[in-house]
Amino acid sequence: MRLVLLGPPGAGKGTQAGGLARRYEVPHISTGDMFREHGQLGTPLGLKIARFMQSGQLVPDDLVLEMVEERLTREDARRGFVCDGFPRTLPQAESFARRLASHGLALDGVVLLEVPFQALIRRLCLRRVCPRCGALYHLEDRPPRQAGLCDADGSVLLHREDDHEEIIRERLEVYQQQTAPLVAFYEKATLLFRVDSARPVENIRADLYEILDPLYERSGDTR
Ligand code: AMP
Repeated sequence: MRLVLLGPPGAGKGTQAGGLARRYEVPHISTGDMFREHGQLGTPLGLKIARFMQSGQLVPDDLVLEMVEERLTREDARRGFVCDGFPRTLPQAESFARRLASHGLALDGVVLLEVPFQALIRRLCLRRVCPRCGALYHLEDRPPRQAGLCDADGSVLLHREDDHEEIIRERLEVYQQQTAPLVAFYEKATLLFRVDSARPVENIRADLYEILDPLYERSGDTR
């Protein structure tokens, strides 16, 4: 099962991707999480990308593609993946398609999670994340059981540096300019499904299963 979740920051890609990855038994590949890990570990890549991430700009395509290529060659990605936050530019999408085709593969589907921009700013400002397990919370809509602590492992929740209004506006602008063109790209490839993501998480999940379960059945021969 080879899936891409597309949508602006805060549309719910990270929230849904984990569940989908478990359901279809493939890894959840979040380039944002991978970059943050490099940043925390202080690797050479982590140092190179820090200024892009802090300012809400995209990391250059060559660095993204190199990291994704390495990730896709790992054993667990042989049966597929759920990509969240990748691809984010047309060159990334084109390169990804060529890479899959060179292995005789293709995406099974791309889901666009749609939310009005105004709702996204509020969502992201109130978002908190567990630095250990990646669980996502929303201070009003999905608060942790104990204030400031992750339900799953008790870690102190973080407010991401780029989840502040000024940078959120920049990230949304970058999305409009560089990532939104992927909608037409995947529409043309007849891979795109749209899901209204301005609804409760459970409703979105139900729609995703309805759309994706049949694709999973069909993808059986390439599993
Ligand atoms: P995310 O967690 O997906 O919102 O990503 C956080 C930040 O990581 C983005 O604002 C970019 O700076 C960087 N990033 C993540 N994925 C990509 C990508 N596919 N292309 C370029 N930059 C990315």
